[in-house]
Amino acid sequence: MEVYKKFLAEANKKYSDADVETILKWTKQTFGESFAFMTAFGYSGIAILHHALKIMPDMKVYFVDTGFHFPETLEFCKYITDKWNLNLEVIKPDITKGQLIKKIGENPYDVNADLCCHYLKVEPLLRVLHNHSAWLSGIRRDQSITRGGVEVIDIDGRGCIKICPMAKWTKGQTWDYIKKNNLPYSPLHDKGYPSIGCAPCTKPVQAGGDERDGRWPDMQKLECGIHLFDDDKED
Ligand code: SF4
Repeated sequence: MEVYKKFLAEANKKYSDADVETILKWTKQTFGESFAFMTAFGYSGIAILHHALKIMPDMKVYFVDTGFHFPETLEFCKYITDKWNLNLEVIKPDITKGQLIKKIGENPYDVNADLCCHYLKVEPLLRVLHNHSAWLSGIRRDQSITRGGVEVIDIDGRGCIKICPMAKWTKGQTWDYIKKNNLPYSPLHDKGYPSIGCAPCTKPVQAGGDERDGRWPDMQKLECGIHLFDDDKED
């Protein structure tokens, strides 16, 4: 762990103020093919994907099909995959919907959302990360209080290096990048969904609300678990 800490401290010293493309070039040089990029195709994911494809056009992109996505998300996933010729791999949970209901109950997202997220999101991520030494994410510090401490280069609770080149970007900067580059984005954003997750757990947000206010709006839950770093530091 000490070796990791030293590596992280040195890498952050060098790259925490670097621009996104410099961080992505370092990612490519340092990890080669052994990092994973996973996205649900929200607007931050689109911005980081656009940056990354300039440097790594064949980069593998993972999308977890939980079985509960909005139809718009699945359509947008197909659209952007065709348009940008993505090297996409769709990951399915090991568990079927029937098994999930048997384990947790009818409407598992209402009965035990943490467990539902574990089976449908975290387990597939762990399976992907098992074969990778690092992963790349488009998360930003300003998305919610739970993400305020995200480092540009970090290590998660599983011992996997996590690179967040847009950690310091704001919502406004990200949208400016999308508009300036005329990038496509999910139609759900224009319907009031600033953050997009599974349909049963995602609601529109009133103007002025926090980006993740619409995620599990009736629960004390802001994260599905894939961005957990360790016991005392959760993003
Ligand atoms: S976001 Fe909701 S439906 Fe999706 S995995 Fe988590 S609890 Fe289940």
